[in-house]
Amino acid sequence: MYDVIIIGGGPGGYLAAERLGHAKKKVLLIEEKYLGGTCLNVGCIPTKTLLNSAKLYVHAKEGEKFGVKADVSYDWAAIQKWKDEVTSKLREGIAGQMKRFGVELIEGRGEIIAAPQGDRTGRVRAAPNGGGVLEHEGRVILVCAGSVPAAPPIPGSKDNPKVVDSTGLLSTAAVPKKLAVIGGGVIGVEFAGLFSALGAEVTVIEMMEEIVPFMDKEQAPLLRRAMKNSGGGGSVDFKLGCKVESIDGASVHYSTKAGSPETCAADLVLMAVGRRPVLDTWGAKAAGIDTTPRGVVTDDRMRTNIPGIWAAGDVTGKSLLAHSAYRMAEVAAADIIAYLDGTSAAGSSVSGAASNVWRNTAVPWAVYGIPEAAGVGMTEQEAAAKGITIVKASLPMRASGRFAAENTFAGQGSVKVIAATETPRRILGLHAVGAYASEFIWGGAALIEQELRVEDVKQLIFPHPTVCELIRDAVFML
Ligand SMILES: Cc1cc2nc3c(=O)[nH]c(=O)nc-3n(C[C@H](O)[C@H](O)[C@H](O)COP(=O)(O)OP(=O)(O)OC[C@H]3O[C@@H](n4cnc5c(N)ncnc54)[C@H](O)[C@@H]3O)c2cc1C
Repeated sequence: MYDVIIIGGGPGGYLAAERLGHAKKKVLLIEEKYLGGTCLNVGCIPTKTLLNSAKLYVHAKEGEKFGVKADVSYDWAAIQKWKDEVTSKLREGIAGQMKRFGVELIEGRGEIIAAPQGDRTGRVRAAPNGGGVLEHEGRVILVCAGSVPAAPPIPGSKDNPKVVDSTGLLSTAAVPKKLAVIGGGVIGVEFAGLFSALGAEVTVIEMMEEIVPFMDKEQAPLLRRAMKNSGGGGSVDFKLGCKVESIDGASVHYSTKAGSPETCAADLVLMAVGRRPVLDTWGAKAAGIDTTPRGVVTDDRMRTNIPGIWAAGDVTGKSLLAHSAYRMAEVAAADIIAYLDGTSAAGSSVSGAASNVWRNTAVPWAVYGIPEAAGVGMTEQEAAAKGITIVKASLPMRASGRFAAENTFAGQGSVKVIAATETPRRILGLHAVGAYASEFIWGGAALIEQELRVEDVKQLIFPHPTVCELIRDAVFML
């Protein structure tokens, strides 16, 4: 009998397994595809590996501006090989961690057949990929089954070999000359940046008025403008407010904002209209777990409606990001440990907020395109919708010596800080477009999570020369 049975070995599942194993709990982790889940195998890591090659290519192409001459080309097959090497090394690393923390692994599908109830343990059927079926008992169950690409019923898209999702595009045999991207969210924008840097003509068709809908409305246009020419030879054209009507081969038919029909003729179409939680593989119904189309319903300690069953990560629909899955997994693991040990998992942070709960006030996000964009906390528009009056300051990236030294596209991108007008003038949001944004955005999360005030940030010392100094410079303008 196990203390905890975890279904799904992505960031949510393996991180929870580590934390529970570290607490000496007997853990069984069941993963039906690959350890590392979406993030490591077909998400965060492969995209960033490909993007890094594309950024290297662009930088090398621009080398003459930095006084470095080189005859540059790229080899897509070699780029793919490097991506596969990186993901397989990291997978081995996770397997090593599972061993280190005494976590038992089953490669196969897990399905809840009986929920834990009072003193009765829960039962999970595991169907190992090698064949056979075994039932396992667990005192509690944690579901981390993740998400998969959504496939809207657009006429002509189903079973069309020219239409791929993010997983399909990651391993495409060749770089398309013309790529149509349906959806201007994070995934669509990252792929648009990647393939335009490698020379493709990319068209992004987005139904909303702006790309990356949760971005600050002053910043999203900066990202769009900066993306138009990545320096790699390709281009990105954005069709905003346009609705895709049908697909025919690799030609996407859409209607414009004004209602007129247009067609984007491409070689390949990426369907990137979002992801849906996996609710149908692990016995949610049989266990009586509350779900909505957005995901498994949980409280802020990641408990489902069924005592003894927790859920974390994309499957909850709360935030479809790997670091959110990590945090939800930590919250769930701490709560499970307290439940198994009969203690309390509650604690409090410096700011007095309960620490072992899922909070989404300071979840940073990043788009790792060319250039990058990142943000955390409130946008100006969100503050206005909440009736909060704010002060704001923006500085262009080119004001940073480090940025100017290392980038040819100086002038593009900016850093924007938002704070409350009312005393104590807390920092409410940090938003950035430009290189390194993803690396320094955690600082904004720390400022917001710890409820620092404008005056507090003015006391901090930032290293020079760095791009993140712009945060301090912007704060001094507030
Ligand atoms: C192209 C792309 C790029 C991305 N880039 C980023 C990024 O840069 N940063 C970021 O934060 N996020 C990124 N994401 C999102 C990130 O991948 C997810 O938020 C993260 O993987 C969620 O982790 P998870 O553990 O909840 O689910 P998943 O990683 O989806 O893992 C769930 C696992 O459960 C397994 N499973 C499902 N049902 C069963 C079952 N019944 N039995 C056994 N196993 C089962 C699945 O096989 C899967 O491995 C990206 C996603 C995509 C698609």
